[in-house]
Amino acid sequence: MNVPVIYRIDETSRIAATNSEWDRHALDNSAPQLIFERIQHLPLWPFIEGAELVYIYRSLIEKAQKENRPLTITYRCDTPELLREMEMTIVSSPNGGVECISRIIRVEQRVPIRLIDANVERKSDETILMCSRCKDVKIQGEWVSLEDAVTRLGLTGNGPFPQISHGLCNTCYDYFNAELESFKPAP
Ligand SMILES: [Zn+2]
Repeated sequence: MNVPVIYRIDETSRIAATNSEWDRHALDNSAPQLIFERIQHLPLWPFIEGAELVYIYRSLIEKAQKENRPLTITYRCDTPELLREMEMTIVSSPNGGVECISRIIRVEQRVPIRLIDANVERKSDETILMCSRCKDVKIQGEWVSLEDAVTRLGLTGNGPFPQISHGLCNTCYDYFNAELESFKPAP
């Protein structure tokens, strides 16, 4: 459980290496298309969910590189059955790339939330907005937890489910801004 999932990108932000736990994690998440053999040398950015997160991720990586010290963020990476809180440390590599090391810091079993199952049927004309970092969902202008959203939107059944687009909630936007602000060069 606590074996970290590691990937490294090169100086052009292409996926250069992963550890073997990466493949196990991809298969556990029903994402066999993400095993290393199939993503090697591909650019990282299309795999990041949501334009805001891509921008923040780029900024975090640049900071870690420029200031040459590790930077740690927390986020959620759930499966339908598991609420998982993760921690990722970004470490700059001497060759100009970075290594991203993710660990599970808390896991909780729950009644499966099929809304986030990659393999369920989805309606083409309905989309909900989910926060890339904490998985909260925006309902009528208000961010609510994934668990509450599923109940409020009546999505506890077998679908079909809405499409999911990704953004950042206000709390997570502030969180990343604080991380970027507080990351000053060492004296
Ligand atoms: Zn959030």
